[in-house]
Amino acid sequence: MRTDLAICGGGPAGLATAIHAARVGLHPVVLDARPLPLDKACGEGVMPAGVAALQEMGVRVDEAARATFHGVRYVDGPVVAEGRFRSGMGWGVRRTSLIESLVSRAEELGVTLRYGCPMKRWRRVAAGGVRLDTEDGVVEAPLLVGADGLHSRIRREAGLARPWRGARRLGIRCHFRVAPWSRCVEVHLAGDVEAYVTPTGPREVGVALMWNGDARRFDDLLAELPRLRERLADAEITSRPRGAGPFRQGVRRRHAPGVVLVGDAAGYLDPLTGEGITLGLLTARALVRVVAEGAPLDRYETAYRRLSRNYYRMTALLLAIAPRRRLRRQVIGALARNPGIFDHFLEVNDGASSLHALGWGGFGRLVQGLVSSPPVGDEPRRSAAQVAARARSSST
Ligand SMILES: Cc1cc2nc3c(=O)[nH]c(=O)nc-3n(C[C@H](O)[C@H](O)[C@H](O)COP(=O)(O)OP(=O)(O)OC[C@H]3O[C@@H](n4cnc5c(N)ncnc54)[C@H](O)[C@@H]3O)c2cc1C
Repeated sequence: MRTDLAICGGGPAGLATAIHAARVGLHPVVLDARPLPLDKACGEGVMPAGVAALQEMGVRVDEAARATFHGVRYVDGPVVAEGRFRSGMGWGVRRTSLIESLVSRAEELGVTLRYGCPMKRWRRVAAGGVRLDTEDGVVEAPLLVGADGLHSRIRREAGLARPWRGARRLGIRCHFRVAPWSRCVEVHLAGDVEAYVTPTGPREVGVALMWNGDARRFDDLLAELPRLRERLADAEITSRPRGAGPFRQGVRRRHAPGVVLVGDAAGYLDPLTGEGITLGLLTARALVRVVAEGAPLDRYETAYRRLSRNYYRMTALLLAIAPRRRLRRQVIGALARNPGIFDHFLEVNDGASSLHALGWGGFGRLVQGLVSSPPVGDEPRRSAAQVAARARSSST
Protein backbone atom coordinates (compact mmCIF):
# COMPACT_ATOMS: atom_id res chain seq x y z
CA MET A 1 0.00 0.00 0.00
CA ARG A 2 1.13 3.60 -0.63
CA THR A 3 0.62 6.27 2.01
CA ASP A 4 1.68 9.89 2.79
CA LEU A 5 3.39 9.05 6.07
CA ALA A 6 4.44 5.65 7.42
CA ILE A 7 4.53 5.91 11.22
CA CYS A 8 6.29 3.07 13.02
CA GLY A 9 5.10 3.04 16.65
CA GLY A 10 1.56 3.58 17.89
CA GLY A 11 2.43 5.08 21.32
CA PRO A 12 1.50 8.68 22.26
CA ALA A 13 4.05 10.25 19.87
CA GLY A 14 3.16 8.10 16.84
CA LEU A 15 -0.59 8.53 17.37
CA ALA A 16 -0.23 12.31 17.90
CA THR A 17 1.73 12.52 14.64
CA ALA A 18 -1.03 10.59 12.86
CA ILE A 19 -3.81 12.75 14.35
CA HIS A 20 -2.11 16.01 13.37
CA ALA A 21 -1.32 14.63 9.91
CA ALA A 22 -4.93 13.55 9.32
CA ARG A 23 -6.15 16.98 10.45
CA VAL A 24 -4.14 18.66 7.68
CA GLY A 25 -5.43 16.24 5.04
CA LEU A 26 -2.59 13.70 4.93
CA HIS A 27 -3.21 9.93 4.91
CA PRO A 28 -0.91 8.32 7.50
CA VAL A 29 -0.53 4.65 8.41
CA VAL A 30 0.45 3.67 11.96
CA LEU A 31 2.10 0.30 12.63
CA ASP A 32 2.70 -1.09 16.08
CA ALA A 33 4.32 -4.41 16.86
CA ARG A 34 2.03 -5.04 19.83
CA PRO A 35 -1.72 -5.60 19.88
CA LEU A 36 -4.10 -3.30 21.77
CA PRO A 37 -4.56 -2.60 24.67
CA LEU A 38 -1.08 -1.10 24.84
CA ASP A 39 0.60 -0.80 28.23
CA LYS A 40 4.04 0.50 29.16
CA ALA A 41 6.09 1.40 32.24
CA CYS A 42 5.31 5.07 32.85
CA GLY A 43 4.61 7.46 35.73
CA GLU A 44 1.43 8.39 33.79
CA GLY A 45 1.44 12.05 34.80
CA VAL A 46 0.52 14.31 31.90
CA MET A 47 1.66 17.87 32.66
CA PRO A 48 -0.63 20.88 31.95
CA ALA A 49 0.95 21.61 28.54
CA GLY A 50 0.32 17.98 27.58
CA VAL A 51 -3.30 18.17 28.73
CA ALA A 52 -3.73 21.31 26.60
CA ALA A 53 -2.13 19.53 23.63
CA LEU A 54 -4.52 16.55 23.99
CA GLN A 55 -7.53 18.87 24.18
CA GLU A 56 -6.36 20.82 21.16
CA MET A 57 -6.15 17.54 19.19
CA GLY A 58 -9.73 16.73 20.17
CA VAL A 59 -8.67 13.76 22.31
CA ARG A 60 -11.23 12.97 25.01
CA VAL A 61 -10.17 11.03 28.09
CA ASP A 62 -13.18 9.83 30.06
CA GLU A 63 -13.34 11.56 33.48
CA ALA A 64 -13.65 8.20 35.23
CA ALA A 65 -10.37 7.10 33.60
CA ARG A 66 -8.24 9.94 34.95
CA ALA A 67 -7.45 12.03 38.02
CA THR A 68 -6.39 15.65 38.05
CA PHE A 69 -3.39 16.90 40.00
CA HIS A 70 -2.38 20.48 40.62
CA GLY A 71 1.32 20.26 41.37
CA VAL A 72 4.29 18.25 42.57
CA ARG A 73 5.27 17.46 46.16
CA TYR A 74 8.77 16.32 47.16
CA VAL A 75 9.11 14.27 50.33
CA ASP A 76 12.64 13.58 51.60
CA GLY A 77 12.39 12.25 55.15
CA PRO A 78 10.91 15.09 57.23
CA VAL A 79 11.53 17.71 54.54
CA VAL A 80 8.54 18.39 52.30
CA ALA A 81 8.08 20.98 49.53
CA GLU A 82 5.10 21.50 47.30
CA GLY A 83 4.88 23.41 44.02
CA ARG A 84 1.65 24.23 42.21
CA PHE A 85 0.95 24.72 38.52
CA ARG A 86 0.16 28.37 37.86
CA SER A 87 -1.99 27.59 34.87
CA GLY A 88 -3.93 24.43 34.15
CA MET A 89 -3.95 21.03 35.81
CA GLY A 90 -2.12 17.79 35.15
CA TRP A 91 -3.85 14.49 34.43
CA GLY A 92 -2.93 11.12 35.86
CA VAL A 93 -4.15 8.59 33.32
CA ARG A 94 -3.39 4.91 32.89
CA ARG A 95 -1.35 4.26 29.75
CA THR A 96 -3.96 1.85 28.42
CA SER A 97 -6.68 4.54 28.72
CA LEU A 98 -4.50 7.25 27.17
CA ILE A 99 -3.77 5.04 24.15
CA GLU A 100 -7.44 4.06 23.87
CA SER A 101 -8.43 7.75 23.74
CA LEU A 102 -5.76 8.59 21.15
CA VAL A 103 -6.76 5.57 19.07
CA SER A 104 -10.45 6.62 19.07
CA ARG A 105 -9.53 10.11 17.90
CA ALA A 106 -7.24 8.72 15.16
CA GLU A 107 -10.04 6.37 14.02
CA GLU A 108 -12.52 9.25 13.96
CA LEU A 109 -10.15 11.03 11.57
CA GLY A 110 -9.84 7.97 9.33
CA VAL A 111 -6.22 7.04 10.15
CA THR A 112 -5.19 3.51 9.12
CA LEU A 113 -4.06 1.73 12.29
CA ARG A 114 -2.31 -1.63 12.33
CA TYR A 115 -1.66 -2.92 15.85
CA GLY A 116 -0.02 -6.33 16.30
CA CYS A 117 1.86 -5.66 13.07
CA PRO A 118 5.65 -5.38 13.58
CA MET A 119 7.80 -3.63 11.04
CA LYS A 120 10.28 -6.29 9.93
CA ARG A 121 12.58 -4.26 7.63
CA TRP A 122 12.74 -0.85 6.03
CA ARG A 123 14.89 0.56 3.23
CA ARG A 124 15.15 3.66 1.13
CA VAL A 125 14.01 3.32 -2.48
CA ALA A 126 15.81 4.75 -5.51
CA ALA A 127 12.89 6.97 -6.50
CA GLY A 128 12.92 8.58 -3.02
CA GLY A 129 10.98 7.65 0.08
CA VAL A 130 10.95 4.35 1.94
CA ARG A 131 9.60 0.80 1.71
CA LEU A 132 8.60 -1.11 4.82
CA ASP A 133 8.10 -4.85 5.06
CA THR A 134 5.53 -5.66 7.70
CA GLU A 135 3.71 -8.78 8.89
CA ASP A 136 0.77 -7.45 6.90
CA GLY A 137 2.49 -6.67 3.59
CA VAL A 138 4.45 -3.77 2.11
CA VAL A 139 3.97 -0.09 2.96
CA GLU A 140 5.55 2.62 0.78
CA ALA A 141 5.74 6.30 1.74
CA PRO A 142 7.77 9.44 1.03
CA LEU A 143 8.68 9.62 4.74
CA LEU A 144 9.13 7.10 7.58
CA VAL A 145 8.40 8.47 11.06
CA GLY A 146 10.35 6.58 13.72
CA ALA A 147 8.06 6.70 16.76
CA ASP A 148 9.32 3.35 18.00
CA GLY A 149 10.22 4.41 21.52
CA LEU A 150 13.22 4.54 23.84
CA HIS A 151 15.23 1.78 22.18
CA SER A 152 14.31 2.83 18.64
CA ARG A 153 15.55 0.49 15.97
CA ILE A 154 14.91 3.10 13.29
CA ARG A 155 17.18 5.59 15.11
CA ARG A 156 19.96 2.99 15.18
CA GLU A 157 19.49 1.73 11.60
CA ALA A 158 19.32 5.28 10.19
CA GLY A 159 22.70 6.03 11.84
CA LEU A 160 21.15 8.71 14.07
CA ALA A 161 21.98 7.18 17.48
CA ARG A 162 24.71 8.57 19.72
CA PRO A 163 25.99 6.04 22.26
CA TRP A 164 25.93 6.89 25.98
CA ARG A 165 28.26 5.15 28.43
CA GLY A 166 27.34 6.90 31.69
CA ALA A 167 25.22 5.72 34.62
CA ARG A 168 22.31 3.36 33.84
CA ARG A 169 18.97 4.53 35.22
CA LEU A 170 16.05 2.14 35.29
CA GLY A 171 12.38 2.33 36.26
CA ILE A 172 9.54 0.02 37.23
CA ARG A 173 5.87 0.75 37.88
CA CYS A 174 2.86 -0.84 39.55
CA HIS A 175 -0.71 0.29 40.41
CA PHE A 176 -2.51 0.11 43.76
CA ARG A 177 -6.21 0.30 44.56
CA VAL A 178 -6.34 3.12 47.10
CA ALA A 179 -7.96 6.56 47.13
CA PRO A 180 -5.26 9.13 46.20
CA TRP A 181 -4.23 10.94 49.40
CA SER A 182 -2.85 13.98 47.58
CA ARG A 183 -3.77 16.14 44.61
CA CYS A 184 -0.09 16.27 43.64
CA VAL A 185 2.33 13.90 42.00
CA GLU A 186 4.22 12.92 45.13
CA VAL A 187 7.93 12.26 44.78
CA HIS A 188 9.45 10.26 47.65
CA LEU A 189 13.22 10.25 47.92
CA ALA A 190 15.20 7.89 50.10
CA GLY A 191 18.75 6.72 49.62
CA ASP A 192 19.20 5.94 45.94
CA VAL A 193 15.55 5.20 45.12
CA GLU A 194 12.91 7.69 43.97
CA ALA A 195 9.17 6.96 43.92
CA TYR A 196 6.68 8.93 41.80
CA VAL A 197 3.15 8.46 43.07
CA THR A 198 0.52 9.66 40.59
CA PRO A 199 -3.24 9.58 41.16
CA THR A 200 -4.63 7.75 38.11
CA GLY A 201 -8.28 7.50 39.07
CA PRO A 202 -10.72 8.07 41.93
CA ARG A 203 -9.51 4.89 43.66
CA GLU A 204 -6.10 4.20 42.17
CA VAL A 205 -2.51 5.44 42.27
CA GLY A 206 0.42 4.48 40.05
CA VAL A 207 3.83 4.12 41.68
CA ALA A 208 6.92 4.41 39.46
CA LEU A 209 10.26 3.66 41.11
CA MET A 210 13.56 4.76 39.60
CA TRP A 211 17.15 4.03 40.53
CA ASN A 212 20.71 3.74 39.20
CA GLY A 213 22.25 0.36 38.44
CA ASP A 214 20.98 -3.11 37.64
CA ALA A 215 17.47 -4.57 37.41
CA ARG A 216 15.76 -4.95 40.81
CA ARG A 217 12.40 -6.20 42.09
CA PHE A 218 9.57 -3.73 42.82
CA ASP A 219 9.10 -5.00 46.41
CA ASP A 220 12.80 -4.73 47.26
CA LEU A 221 12.89 -1.15 46.00
CA LEU A 222 9.69 -0.18 47.83
CA ALA A 223 11.20 -1.57 51.05
CA GLU A 224 13.70 1.29 50.87
CA LEU A 225 10.82 3.76 51.24
CA PRO A 226 9.20 2.58 54.51
CA ARG A 227 6.71 5.46 54.85
CA LEU A 228 5.34 4.91 51.36
CA ARG A 229 5.32 1.13 51.80
CA GLU A 230 3.30 1.55 54.97
CA ARG A 231 0.74 3.72 53.13
CA LEU A 232 0.35 1.05 50.46
CA ALA A 233 0.49 -1.93 52.80
CA ASP A 234 -3.26 -2.75 52.69
CA ALA A 235 -3.87 -1.66 49.10
CA GLU A 236 -4.60 -4.28 46.46
CA ILE A 237 -2.08 -4.38 43.59
CA THR A 238 -3.96 -3.82 40.34
CA SER A 239 -1.25 -4.25 37.69
CA ARG A 240 1.79 -6.41 37.30
CA PRO A 241 5.16 -4.60 37.62
CA ARG A 242 6.52 -3.31 34.32
CA GLY A 243 10.09 -2.10 33.89
CA ALA A 244 11.90 0.16 31.43
CA GLY A 245 15.36 1.53 30.74
CA PRO A 246 18.16 2.36 30.53
CA PHE A 247 16.62 5.79 30.03
CA ARG A 248 19.30 7.92 28.48
CA GLN A 249 19.33 7.70 24.68
CA GLY A 250 21.41 10.14 22.64
CA VAL A 251 20.86 11.24 19.05
CA ARG A 252 23.15 12.90 16.54
CA ARG A 253 20.23 14.47 14.65
CA ARG A 254 16.52 13.78 14.37
CA HIS A 255 16.33 13.18 10.65
CA ALA A 256 18.11 11.50 7.74
CA PRO A 257 16.99 11.12 4.11
CA GLY A 258 13.48 9.64 4.14
CA VAL A 259 13.42 9.23 7.94
CA VAL A 260 12.50 11.41 10.91
CA LEU A 261 12.30 10.65 14.64
CA VAL A 262 9.63 11.69 17.15
CA GLY A 263 8.89 10.91 20.84
CA ASP A 264 11.40 8.91 22.87
CA ALA A 265 12.97 7.69 19.62
CA ALA A 266 14.13 11.29 19.05
CA GLY A 267 16.34 11.14 22.18
CA TYR A 268 15.66 10.90 25.89
CA LEU A 269 17.30 11.88 29.14
CA ASP A 270 15.19 10.73 32.08
CA PRO A 271 11.55 10.55 33.24
CA LEU A 272 12.12 12.43 36.52
CA THR A 273 10.49 15.66 35.30
CA GLY A 274 7.46 13.79 33.87
CA GLU A 275 7.62 15.55 30.51
CA GLY A 276 8.04 12.64 28.05
CA ILE A 277 4.42 12.40 26.89
CA THR A 278 4.02 16.18 26.63
CA LEU A 279 7.21 16.52 24.62
CA GLY A 280 6.10 13.71 22.30
CA LEU A 281 2.74 15.43 21.68
CA LEU A 282 4.24 18.87 21.10
CA THR A 283 7.05 17.74 18.83
CA ALA A 284 4.63 15.59 16.80
CA ARG A 285 2.64 18.76 16.05
CA ALA A 286 5.83 20.61 15.07
CA LEU A 287 6.84 17.77 12.75
CA VAL A 288 3.51 17.70 10.93
CA ARG A 289 3.63 21.48 10.39
CA VAL A 290 7.02 21.12 8.67
CA VAL A 291 5.88 18.13 6.58
CA ALA A 292 2.63 19.83 5.56
CA GLU A 293 4.50 22.93 4.42
CA GLY A 294 6.95 20.79 2.43
CA ALA A 295 9.77 22.56 4.33
CA PRO A 296 13.21 20.96 4.88
CA LEU A 297 13.39 18.69 7.93
CA ASP A 298 16.08 20.96 9.42
CA ARG A 299 13.17 23.17 10.42
CA TYR A 300 11.83 20.31 12.54
CA GLU A 301 15.25 19.87 14.17
CA THR A 302 15.21 23.57 15.13
CA ALA A 303 11.65 23.36 16.45
CA TYR A 304 12.50 20.19 18.40
CA ARG A 305 15.46 21.87 20.10
CA ARG A 306 13.36 24.87 21.05
CA LEU A 307 10.54 22.74 22.45
CA SER A 308 12.85 20.40 24.38
CA ARG A 309 15.33 22.99 25.74
CA ASN A 310 13.63 23.41 29.13
CA TYR A 311 13.07 19.66 29.46
CA TYR A 312 16.78 18.94 28.96
CA ARG A 313 17.88 21.76 31.30
CA MET A 314 15.50 20.94 34.16
CA THR A 315 16.08 17.19 33.85
CA ALA A 316 19.88 17.60 33.84
CA LEU A 317 19.63 19.86 36.90
CA LEU A 318 17.51 17.35 38.85
CA LEU A 319 19.74 14.45 37.80
CA ALA A 320 22.72 16.32 39.24
CA ILE A 321 20.93 17.03 42.54
CA ALA A 322 19.02 13.75 43.12
CA PRO A 323 21.97 11.47 44.09
CA ARG A 324 23.58 14.08 46.42
CA ARG A 325 21.55 13.47 49.55
CA ARG A 326 22.63 16.50 51.57
CA LEU A 327 22.29 18.93 48.67
CA ARG A 328 18.95 17.33 47.74
CA ARG A 329 17.50 18.00 51.18
CA GLN A 330 18.86 21.52 51.18
CA VAL A 331 17.24 22.22 47.81
CA ILE A 332 13.91 20.75 48.93
CA GLY A 333 14.16 22.79 52.15
CA ALA A 334 14.86 25.94 50.12
CA LEU A 335 11.87 25.22 47.85
CA ALA A 336 9.68 24.65 50.91
CA ARG A 337 10.67 28.09 52.18
CA ASN A 338 9.98 29.64 48.78
CA PRO A 339 6.93 27.87 47.29
CA GLY A 340 6.59 30.64 44.69
CA ILE A 341 9.99 29.66 43.29
CA PHE A 342 8.95 26.00 43.16
CA ASP A 343 5.80 27.08 41.24
CA HIS A 344 8.06 28.95 38.84
CA PHE A 345 10.27 25.89 38.27
CA LEU A 346 7.18 23.84 37.39
CA GLU A 347 6.24 26.50 34.86
CA VAL A 348 9.74 26.36 33.35
CA ASN A 349 9.58 22.58 33.20
CA ASP A 350 6.27 22.76 31.37
CA GLY A 351 7.71 25.18 28.80
CA ALA A 352 5.54 28.11 29.94
CA SER A 353 8.38 30.24 31.36
CA SER A 354 12.16 30.49 31.46
CA LEU A 355 14.75 30.28 34.22
CA HIS A 356 15.70 33.91 33.37
CA ALA A 357 12.22 35.06 34.32
CA LEU A 358 12.98 34.08 37.94
CA GLY A 359 15.15 37.21 38.08
CA TRP A 360 17.99 38.06 40.45
CA GLY A 361 15.54 38.41 43.34
CA GLY A 362 14.27 34.85 42.86
CA PHE A 363 17.77 33.39 42.59
CA GLY A 364 18.81 35.39 45.66
CA ARG A 365 15.94 33.94 47.71
CA LEU A 366 16.79 30.44 46.51
CA VAL A 367 20.45 30.80 47.46
CA GLN A 368 19.47 32.26 50.83
CA GLY A 369 17.13 29.30 51.35
CA LEU A 370 19.95 26.89 50.48
CA VAL A 371 22.45 28.50 52.82
CA SER A 372 20.03 28.65 55.72
CA SER A 373 18.76 25.08 55.28
CA PRO A 374 19.42 22.93 58.36
CA PRO A 375 21.72 19.90 58.18
CA VAL A 376 20.33 16.53 57.06
CA GLY A 377 17.96 15.04 59.60
CA ASP A 378 16.61 18.34 60.96
CA GLU A 379 13.22 19.48 59.84
CA PRO A 380 13.12 23.12 58.71
CA ARG A 381 10.58 24.23 61.31
CA ARG A 382 9.24 27.40 59.79
CA SER A 383 8.88 25.91 56.34
CA ALA A 384 7.35 22.73 57.71
CA ALA A 385 4.49 24.79 59.10
CA GLN A 386 4.02 26.57 55.78
CA VAL A 387 4.18 23.32 53.89
CA ALA A 388 1.79 21.57 56.24
CA ALA A 389 -0.74 24.37 55.63
CA ARG A 390 -0.29 24.08 51.87
CA ALA A 391 -0.45 20.29 52.01
CA ARG A 392 -3.64 20.38 54.13
CA SER A 393 -5.37 22.57 51.57
CA SER A 394 -4.37 20.25 48.70
CA SER A 395 -4.99 16.84 50.29
CA THR A 396 -8.18 15.15 49.20
C1 LIG B 1 9.43 4.62 34.57
C2 LIG B 1 8.94 5.72 33.64
C3 LIG B 1 8.17 6.74 34.14
C4 LIG B 1 7.68 7.75 33.26
N1 LIG B 1 6.86 8.73 33.75
C5 LIG B 1 6.35 9.65 32.91
C6 LIG B 1 5.39 10.60 33.37
O1 LIG B 1 4.95 10.60 34.52
N2 LIG B 1 4.93 11.54 32.48
C7 LIG B 1 5.37 11.56 31.18
O2 LIG B 1 4.93 12.43 30.42
N3 LIG B 1 6.26 10.66 30.72
C8 LIG B 1 6.75 9.70 31.54
N4 LIG B 1 7.61 8.76 31.06
C9 LIG B 1 8.03 8.84 29.65
C10 LIG B 1 6.92 8.35 28.71
O3 LIG B 1 6.48 7.08 29.08
C11 LIG B 1 7.48 8.35 27.28
O4 LIG B 1 8.12 9.58 27.04
C12 LIG B 1 6.40 8.13 26.24
O5 LIG B 1 5.75 6.90 26.41
C13 LIG B 1 7.02 8.17 24.85
O6 LIG B 1 6.05 7.85 23.90
P1 LIG B 1 6.49 7.28 22.47
O7 LIG B 1 5.25 7.21 21.67
O8 LIG B 1 7.67 8.01 21.97
O9 LIG B 1 7.06 5.81 22.77
P2 LIG B 1 6.30 4.44 23.34
O10 LIG B 1 5.20 4.88 24.18
O11 LIG B 1 7.41 3.67 23.90
O12 LIG B 1 5.75 3.80 22.01
C14 LIG B 1 6.60 3.21 21.06
C15 LIG B 1 5.83 2.13 20.34
O13 LIG B 1 6.61 1.63 19.24
C16 LIG B 1 6.31 0.28 19.08
N5 LIG B 1 7.39 -0.37 18.30
C17 LIG B 1 8.68 -0.54 18.65
N6 LIG B 1 9.35 -1.19 17.67
C18 LIG B 1 8.46 -1.44 16.68
C19 LIG B 1 8.55 -2.11 15.42
N7 LIG B 1 9.68 -2.63 14.97
N8 LIG B 1 7.42 -2.20 14.66
C20 LIG B 1 6.27 -1.65 15.09
N9 LIG B 1 6.13 -1.04 16.27
C21 LIG B 1 7.21 -0.92 17.07
C22 LIG B 1 6.16 -0.26 20.47
O14 LIG B 1 5.37 -1.44 20.53
C23 LIG B 1 5.52 0.92 21.21
O15 LIG B 1 4.12 0.76 21.35
C24 LIG B 1 8.07 7.74 31.89
C25 LIG B 1 8.88 6.71 31.41
C26 LIG B 1 9.31 5.71 32.26
C27 LIG B 1 10.16 4.61 31.69
